[in-house]
Amino acid sequence: MNKTLAIIKPDGVANGLIGEIIKRIEQEGLKIIGMRMTQLDRRQAEGFYYVHRSRPFFHSLIEYMTSGPVVLMVLKGPNAIDRWRTLMGATDPRKADPGTIRAEMGLNIERNVVHGSDSGDSAMYEINYFFKGSDLVE
Ligand code: UDP
Repeated sequence: MNKTLAIIKPDGVANGLIGEIIKRIEQEGLKIIGMRMTQLDRRQAEGFYYVHRSRPFFHSLIEYMTSGPVVLMVLKGPNAIDRWRTLMGATDPRKADPGTIRAEMGLNIERNVVHGSDSGDSAMYEINYFFKGSDLVE
């Protein structure tokens, strides 16, 4: 799978980080082949994070992800999933490598600025969750 789903989460949009994040994606050489701004409703956010439905942080995560607009993107390039996750950094900004988006811009383990698919299967599920094939420019 050479495609991945990236999301600039509500804190990233609210804090004016869209341009900085897109700049890093382009500098890494990943191609943006789909992009849309939207505000997720509860049903969409719950479906997207279905695998986490029994986790203690689920309710708060859904509140956060529906709290404001997000930017949805499909990124393409060799090894796109790992390259985007490397740019993002670890889930908890305090544990993320220096220089990563989450280390530099994340507020806490929940409000961590960005999302990226973590496997080929999840990338396929997540891209299809938000984009039709005809929405992508390949
Ligand atoms: N999350 C949270 N508390 C936790 C772990 C995760 O609020 O203890 C949130 C956080 O926003 C994270 C998302 O749930 O990005 C999905 O968690 P996952 O473990 O899949 O992390 P990711 O793949 O986003 O790094």
